[in-house]
Amino acid sequence: MPELPEVETVARQLEPELEGHRIEELEVLDARWSRPVPPAALGDAVRGATIEGLGRRGKYLMLALDGDRTLVMHLRMTGNLVLVEGDDILDPAAGRLLYQGERTTEARHLRARCVLDDGRELWFTDPRRFGEAFLIDNADLPARFAKLGVEPFSPEFTPEALGGMAAGRTAPLKSFLLDQSRIAGVGNIYADEALYRARLHPLSPAGSMKPEHRLALRDAVVDVLQMGIDAGGSSIDDYRDGRGEKGTMQEKFLVHTREGQPCPSCEGEIVRIVVGGRSTYFCPSCQVKLRRRPRRRAK
Ligand SMILES: [Zn+2]
Repeated sequence: MPELPEVETVARQLEPELEGHRIEELEVLDARWSRPVPPAALGDAVRGATIEGLGRRGKYLMLALDGDRTLVMHLRMTGNLVLVEGDDILDPAAGRLLYQGERTTEARHLRARCVLDDGRELWFTDPRRFGEAFLIDNADLPARFAKLGVEPFSPEFTPEALGGMAAGRTAPLKSFLLDQSRIAGVGNIYADEALYRARLHPLSPAGSMKPEHRLALRDAVVDVLQMGIDAGGSSIDDYRDGRGEKGTMQEKFLVHTREGQPCPSCEGEIVRIVVGGRSTYFCPSCQVKLRRRPRRRAK
């Protein structure tokens, strides 16, 4: 599932390709992608718009359009946003859509295609169909994202801020990290990797962190997300970058998906448990389970 590094990778790759180009047509092939707005209405609204940029907020892709509007897209579980051109595009004889070298997508997984003024196409593919998009006036963005948490690379994401979010909370650290209303962009992969690097047990109550734990966790979250961006994201299942290529972060995982393999630090066995319905990988020897602390009254 795409998380902050995957979405950031797509945005950074595609922004210079898209900037300044005009949208000739947006064809929404799956009404679920744009609901509740009908596909034709969304297509009409963006036809002729000039693309001013492509950014990210949390796990959202933000396609900035002229007229102070943004087409916001979320890849959810299996979505990909890929730029395709020329010979990459189509193999109708095979009943499949082919593009960008090795990457092949079945036609039925194409949810929306955006045709640019130079003939290139931006494709949103999504086998599981949880991905979505909506058009919004920029003036309405703050309200729309009011419940989205702090950006991990912003100066506001300090150990103290992390402590403030966690204070008094009994939810396991793993679930705490996945909560998008606190820290935006962290998902299952990077939460496991961050907790391992911070040497914190995923079932520790979030409010049990002492100052040294908050510092370690803040640093670990920032470090693993940066590693993920540097590696072009993680491709353990469907994720491909904006050019249809796989990322390589999965080769650098220390615990995630490594059940039964040796811990890189102590050589003990990595264990998989389920926390909040999500597979969670950790080293029981290296990662300390913190005890719940009584809540201190604020000064
Ligand atoms: Zn270990």
